[in-house]
Amino acid sequence: MKNKNVLISGAGIAGLTLAYWLKQRGFIPTVIEKHPCLRKGGYKVDVRGAALEVAKRMGIYQTLVDENVNIKRATLITPDLKMFEFESDILGFCSPGDIEVNRYDLCQILSKAVGEIEIIYNDSIIRLDEKVYFEKMEPREFDVVIGADGLHSKVRKLAFGEDSQFLIDNRVRFCVFPISNIFGLNRSEIVYFDKGKFAAAYAVNNHSFACLAFKAEKDKLLDENSKSVFEELFKDLGWEIPRLIRTMKESNDCYFGSTSQTRMPIWSRGRVALVGDAAYSAQGIGTSLAIVGAYVLAREMGEANGDYAVAFDRYEKSIRKFVEKGQNVSQSNHAILEKGDSSWLIKCQLYVMKILPGQFVRLFTKWGRWRQKKAANAIIL
Ligand SMILES: Cc1cc2nc3c(=O)[nH]c(=O)nc-3n(C[C@H](O)[C@H](O)[C@H](O)COP(=O)(O)OP(=O)(O)OC[C@H]3O[C@@H](n4cnc5c(N)ncnc54)[C@H](O)[C@@H]3O)c2cc1C
Repeated sequence: MKNKNVLISGAGIAGLTLAYWLKQRGFIPTVIEKHPCLRKGGYKVDVRGAALEVAKRMGIYQTLVDENVNIKRATLITPDLKMFEFESDILGFCSPGDIEVNRYDLCQILSKAVGEIEIIYNDSIIRLDEKVYFEKMEPREFDVVIGADGLHSKVRKLAFGEDSQFLIDNRVRFCVFPISNIFGLNRSEIVYFDKGKFAAAYAVNNHSFACLAFKAEKDKLLDENSKSVFEELFKDLGWEIPRLIRTMKESNDCYFGSTSQTRMPIWSRGRVALVGDAAYSAQGIGTSLAIVGAYVLAREMGEANGDYAVAFDRYEKSIRKFVEKGQNVSQSNHAILEKGDSSWLIKCQLYVMKILPGQFVRLFTKWGRWRQKKAANAIIL
């Protein structure tokens, strides 16, 4: 086996899954994570289709089933405060068999499965040369470097260039934060739409999270100090929005994100490759793409005996179509949020939603679920 020492940037879903599979295949993965610990926070994420098969092969499937948030009911609140009840979730496009888990729970499950490896917290790669240079540590030598460091990947920036070349920014920005169960939810979710803004919350056992989202007018990204942006934009909304804004302001655990997609013509350069959101993010299916992508990348590294040129090429060929299908479905499932009312199709959908909200949402989610399921299964591992 050549090139056994692999540095993975990012201890998220993709990074931890990759570390697990590389270790299984006899490599020595080292993970570097810029946060001082596994990052907490985040809404529920979906593990579906081929990603469930990977989970089974990792021996974590049953733990995921046990942690499944398994949303049983959802309530939609319209701007004039009419309520519509549904017998399943309306945001995640979940089909029977899909698993939704709190993002942090998934990270912990993956981290436990990985077991003993070197994880360096609180540091980040700053330069890639013959050696790898870090913000804090002394330079070190690695045979292969993988960027699993999310939507705004540092490895991608260093090896491929600026984000603007690869990010399709739909300008949907969101904030996720824990709340106490103020809506009295139990394996259920509540969703409110008004004036192009969106709020949702769910609760399962002791966990309850809320999400606020809006379509930004400018490309500007949110950072950790963006609470005031939400406060300003949501100030005129009714329902329970003022209470959610107060909770967000008091929270120390907000995650600010965007639903942009990463689309790249190639995912590797020399001994550097990308996996997960760093290479191919997609709302609703991104976690599953990350898990499958990490599994396939490690498989190809193993089968090529560490010859990364061969492995990276096969990795691309094996999953590019699967990834693109997933990204396309995600884009159209979330078009209402992303396009606002700019296209005639969305205008029609919003009109039907106004006069027949229950029927529209039922039909829309059924259609979305069917397409999501098809895309998530569009690969044989
Ligand atoms: C805290 C958090 C909350 C999230 N919440 C949601 C959510 O509510 N809804 C949703 O759809 N998606 C959310 N996501 C994104 C979601 O997890 C991913 O889209 C998906 O699971 C694919 O995972 P990934 O491993 O590719 O990326 P991520 O899960 O984003 O993981 C990337 C990891 O890389 C680390 N990292 C970033 N930059 C560097 C660097 N320079 N050096 C070292 N490490 C670095 C990050 O801290 C993170 O641990 C969240 C991500 C995070 C980190």
